[in-house]
Amino acid sequence: MVFEGLADKLQGALQKLKSKGKLSEKDVKEAMREVKLALLEADVNFKVVKDFIDKVKDRAVGNEVLESLTPGQQVIKIVNEELTALMGTTQSKITFSSKPPTVIMLVGLQGAGKTTTGGKLGGYLKKSGKRPLLVAGDIYRPAAIKQLQVVGGQLDLPVFTLGDKVSPVHIAKAGVEHAVKHGNDLVIIDTAGRLHIDDHLMEELQNIKQEVKPHEILLVLDAMTGQDAVNVAEIFNEKLGIDGVILTKLDGDTRGGAALSVRAVTNKPIKFIGMGEKLNELEPFFPDRMASRILG
Ligand code: GDP
Repeated sequence: MVFEGLADKLQGALQKLKSKGKLSEKDVKEAMREVKLALLEADVNFKVVKDFIDKVKDRAVGNEVLESLTPGQQVIKIVNEELTALMGTTQSKITFSSKPPTVIMLVGLQGAGKTTTGGKLGGYLKKSGKRPLLVAGDIYRPAAIKQLQVVGGQLDLPVFTLGDKVSPVHIAKAGVEHAVKHGNDLVIIDTAGRLHIDDHLMEELQNIKQEVKPHEILLVLDAMTGQDAVNVAEIFNEKLGIDGVILTKLDGDTRGGAALSVRAVTNKPIKFIGMGEKLNELEPFFPDRMASRILG
């Protein structure tokens, strides 16, 4: 189950409302206090929690809800709708260029899962009829190129590399040219990460962006890092501009803070989620399904 602790607590708080029959404003407020605590414990951004609770309260304490036949269920429905809205309401898809190849640039910190996710995304989109080319642009991490080649081999996807002695900007450009020549309608560029954000990394990513004008810049974030992931997203969005997020390691023991905060804080959607180390464990992200999973 995803976000087990959060799910248990939210369901517990809301279950109490459901079993009550008639609800008073005080009942709702008490339940919302529990919901608030559960969200904060799950490492959801403080301001996001406050806005969320205010919205739910605004909608839930009106006569229409409290005097309805099933007030508890109405409140749960409102929480479900607001959780869904918090995560972006509807699925956000990849935008494909009308003039192929579509170029996707993957960015993020080292260890977030960029290289693995590049392969996963290629494999996923290949299934829908695309002909992806993976481009090995991480020349700094030892073995990153080799790792991409292994992943590409497992998924039967071509991998473009110029080794680690050529600038990533040049590799990205040459990769796109290679795709045009070889009929690849999709290019996925793996870029370098660092343990922490630094100016040199950002500059390099900005240069790649300027050179190849990607249609999508997707930030790969490790869900296990909670609010740190959200801070990383804010900085990447500010310095580089991102089009969306791929949140990895949601199969792990993560509390939910990143998944619930990143959209509200950056206004950029989660497009995919990583659900395991295996190369087929990538899923499109559906806010409504995630809300229902959390609320049971
Ligand atoms: P990079 O440094 O960002 O390129 O990260 P890697 O692609 O090398 O991934 C780092 C580690 O995270 C590897 O051990 C991956 O198998 C693992 N990983 C990536 N995505 C997921 C995921 O969705 N779930 C789990 N459990 N592990 C993942």
